[in-house]
Amino acid sequence: MGLERNCLVGSHVWVEDPTLAWIDGEVSKVDGKDVEIQTSDGRIVVEDMSKIFPKDMETPYVGVNDMTRLSYLHEPGVLHNLLTRYECNKIYTYTGNILIAINPFQRLPQLYDSETMEQYKGAPLGMLNPHVFAVADVAYRVMMNEGERNSILVSGESGSGKTETTKMLMCYLANLGGRVANERRTVEQQVLESNPVLEAFGNAKTVRNDNSSRFGKFVEIQFDGHGRISGAAIRTYLLERSRVCQISDPERNYHCFYRLCSAPPEEIEKYKLGNPKSYHYLNQSNCYELVGVNDAHDYLATRHAMDVVGISQEEQDAIFRVVAAILHLGNIEFEKEEVSEHAVIKDDQARFHLQMTAELLMCDPQALEDALCKRVMITREEIIKRSLDPLGAIVGRDGLAKTIYSRLFDWLVEKINFSIGQDPDSNSLIGILDIYGFESFKTNSFEQFCINFTNEKLQQHFNQHVFKMEQEEYVNEQIDWSYIDFVDNQDVLDLIEKKPGGIIALLDEACMFPKSTHETFCEKLYQTFKTHKRFIKPKLSVTSFTIAHYAGEVPYDACQFLDKNKDYVVLEHQELLSASKCSFVAGLFPPILDESTKSSKFSSIGSRFKLQLQQLMEYVNSTKPLYIRCVKPNNLLKPGIFDNVNVMQQLRCGGVLETIRISCAGYPTRRTFKEFIDRFSILCPTALEGNYDEKAVCTRILGKIGLSGFQIGETKVFLRANQMAELDAARAVI
Ligand code: ATP
Ligand code: MG
Repeated sequence: MGLERNCLVGSHVWVEDPTLAWIDGEVSKVDGKDVEIQTSDGRIVVEDMSKIFPKDMETPYVGVNDMTRLSYLHEPGVLHNLLTRYECNKIYTYTGNILIAINPFQRLPQLYDSETMEQYKGAPLGMLNPHVFAVADVAYRVMMNEGERNSILVSGESGSGKTETTKMLMCYLANLGGRVANERRTVEQQVLESNPVLEAFGNAKTVRNDNSSRFGKFVEIQFDGHGRISGAAIRTYLLERSRVCQISDPERNYHCFYRLCSAPPEEIEKYKLGNPKSYHYLNQSNCYELVGVNDAHDYLATRHAMDVVGISQEEQDAIFRVVAAILHLGNIEFEKEEVSEHAVIKDDQARFHLQMTAELLMCDPQALEDALCKRVMITREEIIKRSLDPLGAIVGRDGLAKTIYSRLFDWLVEKINFSIGQDPDSNSLIGILDIYGFESFKTNSFEQFCINFTNEKLQQHFNQHVFKMEQEEYVNEQIDWSYIDFVDNQDVLDLIEKKPGGIIALLDEACMFPKSTHETFCEKLYQTFKTHKRFIKPKLSVTSFTIAHYAGEVPYDACQFLDKNKDYVVLEHQELLSASKCSFVAGLFPPILDESTKSSKFSSIGSRFKLQLQQLMEYVNSTKPLYIRCVKPNNLLKPGIFDNVNVMQQLRCGGVLETIRISCAGYPTRRTFKEFIDRFSILCPTALEGNYDEKAVCTRILGKIGLSGFQIGETKVFLRANQMAELDAARAVI
C-alpha cells in the first residue's frame, strides 16, 4: 500500500532496497505509474508508484517517542524512527501501548539508576521517555488503583534482551513493592535472586547469545493489600534437555558445569573433578570460557543466590554432587564384548567414572553398571535380562543424564517457589513472561515446533488485543469502525493443536504405535493436510514438512519428532535412583505408584506442553496485557550497529508490523484538532475566521481538500492511510 497518487517530482520518498530494507530519495521523474527516484546514496531507481512511500520531512531528528505519532505510519517510517533513536541511545520506543526495546549491547547505567527509577514512580505513561520502568509502573498502578491483574509479555528472538528486560521489570517492582526491613531474606530479594539460580542451571552460551535462556519462564509476583510483594510463583517451560549431552562448537553446556569445575579446590577434590576439557559432555565444543565472565566468581555468586532463595547447605551440596555425577556419567564409555557384542565398560578410566558416578549419586556401582548395560524385558512367561549393544548403552546413558538434569532443574524451580512462598490471599498480581521468540533455522526440529507453536498462540492473543484496543479508541471517539477486519491465525493453531487430527495429536498417535517411524508419521501428515493452506509438503523430502507460520514458512525435519515427544524414564534408571542412599537423589525419582503409567511408559511432551500453554493463555487472558518487544539490532552482538533488514524481520515476527497493518486497515493517523489545525490551516485560511470551534475548522479544512473516508471524532481527526501524505502534498504546492 504505497502511494497511489500525488507523487510529485521533488517529493521525498522511501523505496525498497535489498541491503538496507528501505532507502530514501527524491522523485526525479513521474511517468504514469513509474516513478524515477534519485536515492540518497546517489543511485537512480525506477519503481512502481504503489511500492513507494512518502517520507516525512518534519519528524524531529531524535525521532518520536511513539510510533503512532509518526505522520506516515508505514514500514520505512517505523524503521527509520527506530534507527534515529538508537543512534542517540534511545533504545525504547512505544507503538501505542507496546514498548519496543532495542538491545544496546552495552551497559547504559544512567538509564537504570535509582534516580531514574524514582522519576518513573507514578508518572503517567507517555509523560517521560519510553522505558521499561514506565511499563512496570503502569502495571503496578493499574493493579493498585483499579484492582486489575496485569501481565507483561516480553518477547523477541534469542539475544534480543528479554531476560535483561525481565530482570529490570522485577527490580523496579521490587523497589516499589519492597519493604524497609533489615531482614536478610526479604521476599523481593528472593524473587530477584531466583534469577541467577535459574540462569546458572538453565542458561548457556549459544551462537546467538552468551547467556541464552534454554527454557521459558513465567513469574507471577503477588502483592498484599498495601502493594508490598508478598509472594511469587515461577513456572518454567520446556528446558532444552539435549544440551546436557550434546553441544556443538562454539556453544557451551549449561553454565553450572563450568562454574563447578572452577569451584574452590576442596570442592573440586570432593567431587573428584578435573579440567572441563576432560569431560565428554563439555569437550564436544572448544568453548570453555566466556569473554568477560569469571566462572570461579560466578560459582560463589550462584552459591550466594542459592543461600538467599533458601536452599540449605546440604541441599546445595547434593545439587552440585548431582551436577558432578552427570559429568562423570558422560565419561563412562562402552565397548563390545568380543563374542556376544554386548556393551561392557570400556577400560579403567571408564570404570573410575562409573565408580565416581555411583559414589556421588550414592547408589550401588554394580546396579549402575547393570542399569547402563542391560534392560529387563517382561514377557507373559518370564523376565529376561537383555544386554544392550554399545550404541544402545550410550543412548541409555545420555537419556539418564538428561532425565537427572531436568529433574534437578524442576526441583530447583519447586524449591524456589516453596521458599519464596505463595500468598493465597493475594488478589494483586503481575505476571511477567520471558519466553523464546519465533525460531527458523536451517534445520528445525521438535523444539522449534513447540517454540513456534507458542509464538502462534501469543500472536493470536496479541492480534486480538491490538484489534480490541483499536476498536475501543474508535468507540471512545464515536467513529464508525465496522469495516475494519484482520486476518486471524486460527488456521495455523488448528493445524497444530486441534483434537483430534492436529499435528500434535497425530504425533501422539504415532508415538503410541510401536511400528511407527518418522516416515510413516510424515506420510500421515501429508495425507491429512493435503489441502491445508498452512501445510506444505516439500517436493523432495519424505521426512520433513513445512508450516506457513504468521512470521514466515518454517521447514521442520521430522526425524527426531517421535523420540523427542516421548517422555519416559527407563524403569531400570528409575529403580536405581529411587534406591539412592542420598535422600535428595531419591527424592528426584519418587516411586511410581500408578501401575498403569508404569506399563504405558509414554507420556507426550507435546501434549503436556500444549496443556501448559493453554493454562498460560487462560491466565494471560484474565489479565490486562502489556507488551514489550525486544529487538536485536545485529547478529555480531556489538553496540552501535543497526542492521535494517534484520530488524525489519524481527518487527514482522514480533507483530509490530502486524499492529501497524491492523491500524492501517482503519485510521492509522490521528491528530488532535489543535495539531491538525496547526499543520493544515494553511490549506484553508478562511476556516479560522470568526469565532471558531476546532472541530468545525477541521471539517472545513478537510472539506476544502475533497478527501473522503476520513472521520472526525470527539477530540481527534482520524485519517485513512496515505491521507496525511495527500494533505502534505497539497500544502507543498501552496
Ligand atoms: P535468549 O532468548 O537467548 O534467552 P534474551 O532475549 O533473553 O535471549 P538477554 O540474555 O536478555 O537475551 O540479552 C543478551 C545480552 O544482551 C545480555 O547478556 C546483555 O549483554 C545484553 N543486553 C540486553 N539488554 C540489555 C540492556 N538493556 N542493557 C545492556 N545490555 C543488554
Ligand atoms: Mg533469555
